[in-house]
Amino acid sequence: TMSFVTMDCLFCRIVSGEIPATLVRETDTTLAFRDIMPKAVSHILVIPKEHYADVATLAQADAKLASDVLETVAIVAEHEGLVADGFRVIFNTGEYAGQEVSHVHAHVLGGEPLGPMLA
Ligand code: 5GP
Ligand code: ZN
Repeated sequence: TMSFVTMDCLFCRIVSGEIPATLVRETDTTLAFRDIMPKAVSHILVIPKEHYADVATLAQADAKLASDVLETVAIVAEHEGLVADGFRVIFNTGEYAGQEVSHVHAHVLGGEPLGPMLA
């Protein structure tokens, strides 16, 4: 049975298939899909299928699952051809960072020069 938080969460709805997304990779525990408003030529979001609010919560609750997310980040970056030129991985965490979706997600950005991080 799904919790209220799960039912209320946009990315849980993508995991369940209730909301469509352009999937890039799926594993037993993670999902990668294209950001709906890409900020770079390649902009992919990588999430654990299980709901955690942010990367700090996930890392402390389930280190193996956090590792699974990072493994999917690495494989997606490789498949997208981002490794040679480089890419950026961002976990916005909480209000000050502007986290808008409260289901932990890695932004994987690349495919063009990205400039300084805070430009
Ligand atoms: P945050 O600001 O929480 O780190 O990033 C949330 C990201 O989710 C944003 O880059 C935004 O474009 C993306 N996003 C929001 N709604 C949807 C959606 O319905 N589908 C997809 N694929 N991405 C979304
Ligand atoms: Zn969720």
